[in-house]
Amino acid sequence: MSETKLCRKPAVKKQSRGPLVPDRIASILNALDEAYPAAECALTHRSPWELLVATILSAQCTDVRVNLVTPELFRRFPTPQKMAKATLSELEGLIRTTGFYHNKAKSIQGAARKIVAEFGGKVPQTLAELVTIPGAARKTANVVLGVAFGKAEGVVVDTPGLRIERRLSQATGETPQMVEQELMQILPASRWIDFSHQIIHHGRQVCAARKPKCDRCNLEQLCTAKEKTWR
Ligand code: SF4
Repeated sequence: MSETKLCRKPAVKKQSRGPLVPDRIASILNALDEAYPAAECALTHRSPWELLVATILSAQCTDVRVNLVTPELFRRFPTPQKMAKATLSELEGLIRTTGFYHNKAKSIQGAARKIVAEFGGKVPQTLAELVTIPGAARKTANVVLGVAFGKAEGVVVDTPGLRIERRLSQATGETPQMVEQELMQILPASRWIDFSHQIIHHGRQVCAARKPKCDRCNLEQLCTAKEKTWR
């Protein structure tokens, strides 16, 4: 996705009350809408199955790298049925550059076999079912539900998301799972899918782990993070 143009001027007013008051949360959502009006999943896919596999491969790997690998992977094994019959060495050879390829090959082979054996060859559409699939923890399940099926059963929180939510004082939890539960309490469910994409883009474009670009951040006046590089 091309880099979104960001405003230098803050789009929001300073808040003088607690970090979770509704008008502050609304200001954060408005600022994210302004900065990332069309944020969407960057993993190339043509079906829920391809998205599931791509999301499993994206662990500890960039979406760009995954998108380089998946065309040939899906050309060779286009369906769960075909991938269920692939050998681990075949899969490892195709996904090697995404890192952790031994485990990832086991996961996507296991996912294919589980979907064929227990879900009629189709990716299931509930969180409870998705998290039973090898390689698909809650974050992956939320990505697939939100992007492929338009269903919001949770909020996608990865490691960068955890960092950003804590910087914005929207959450205090120490794990993505804890932060997701906090976000589900304060965000309207209608925003869970878009918000997840917007925070991912914010982490990539502005709120980096090291040297966040606070001078380009339109959330700056809402942010009290000690890591801020500009105010
Ligand atoms: S002001 Fe800086 S630390 Fe705060 S959200 Fe923006 S980029 Fe991140």
